[in-house]
Amino acid sequence: MFVDKVRIFVKAGNGGNGAVAFHREKYVAAGGPDGGDGGHGGSIVLRVDDNLSTLMDFRYKRKYTAPNGQDGQGARRSGKRGEDLVIKVPRGTVVRDAETGEVIRDMSSSEDYVLCKGGRGGWGNKHFATPTRQVPRFAKSGAPGEEHDVILELKLLADVGLVGFPNVGKSTLLSVTSNAHPKIANYHFTTLYPNLGVIYVEDGVSFVMADIPGIIEGAAEGAGLGHDFLRHIDRCRLIVHIVDVSGSEGRDPVEDFDRINEELAQYSPDLAARPMLVAANKCDLLPPDSDNLERLRSYVTARGYEFYEISAATTQGTKQLMRAIAGRLASLPPVIVYEPEYVKPLTEAGSPDELKIQHQDDYWLVTGPWLSRLIADINFDDYESRMYFDRQLRRCGLFDRLEAQGIQDGDTVCLDDYEFTYER
Ligand code: GDP
Ligand code: MG
Repeated sequence: MFVDKVRIFVKAGNGGNGAVAFHREKYVAAGGPDGGDGGHGGSIVLRVDDNLSTLMDFRYKRKYTAPNGQDGQGARRSGKRGEDLVIKVPRGTVVRDAETGEVIRDMSSSEDYVLCKGGRGGWGNKHFATPTRQVPRFAKSGAPGEEHDVILELKLLADVGLVGFPNVGKSTLLSVTSNAHPKIANYHFTTLYPNLGVIYVEDGVSFVMADIPGIIEGAAEGAGLGHDFLRHIDRCRLIVHIVDVSGSEGRDPVEDFDRINEELAQYSPDLAARPMLVAANKCDLLPPDSDNLERLRSYVTARGYEFYEISAATTQGTKQLMRAIAGRLASLPPVIVYEPEYVKPLTEAGSPDELKIQHQDDYWLVTGPWLSRLIADINFDDYESRMYFDRQLRRCGLFDRLEAQGIQDGDTVCLDDYEFTYER
């Protein structure tokens, strides 16, 4: 089964907690703090795998969780870090935010993408020892791993997309010109999933052509296989419109041509405006008395399209068509790659009840999941960003709480990772 759109949930691992521990040894009285750090949580990493051609695997598994980092231990032993979870996707998978539909990443290059970062491990108490504080009784908790509901959508990477009514010979054309072996038969909707073929025109000149399941009039309203498959030619640089001129299905080629163009326009005006060549197919079946070919030719050329006569079955004219396509592609922009649109919304402060306040002498350590997330979003070099941080903390009432517990001017406050001197 061909699956080209799925929704999945991904979550990176949480960081392990730092340990509170003290050195113990025979004959050594008060050993120093030696609590180890928590390990970092594993990240969720997306990787292109060219052996994959559908998103089928995601139908059965929709939740992906990377392992957490382990907690730190005594004797300065750090917790083990969580392994990254690598999720393999076919080339051309577009990752979107499930809520807004905005593009997060287009996996069309071979570069790995970290979709969710693992939480960092918390520091053990050994980091909090100072000349005046030799017995730190606190450690940092690990930060939560990022999580996200995303939609994966496969949009094949092809230079050329074939469009046309069912049974006009699209799959046949791909099979006689390329290395692909699409299913071909004399009934409608034989092609149930897209096929890609590489066409070698001559040394150093080749292109990729996609044959997609047929679209027909009314696809926009759910007839036939619908518009779903058109997403696979969204990126194409050139559309090749195949029209059956033989009249073998009792339709009129000029009407066919218009109807398919209307479907394209309904699906996407952008796609309808893509450069297009027109090929009249099944010329070998043309009845001697038919004027189909000439009518289509004058109709199409009057609208500024290049026009070719072919017979995919006998390969008459197919080489010339492939050469013309390659020539046209040479002057067209590259295959479309989608730019990221999604911007992660800034974390807002949660309830102060979820924060853990640890206090020793003049040192205050405040930790909690939302605080870790908030801090990760802040750029402390940027004034606006610092102000946002300040507003969030004031709004949630953290400072009132610290006051109530007796914080003094000049005390040190450590909010998760961020340390500063407290002043009212
Ligand atoms: P698609 O639905 O557009 O992919 O069409 P197919 O490639 O599956 O072809 C549909 C039918 O038309 C098959 O039986 C083909 O053998 C036949 N066919 C395709 N091209 C030609 C052609 O140029 N001449 C003739 N005579 N038959 C063709
Ligand atoms: Mg087909």
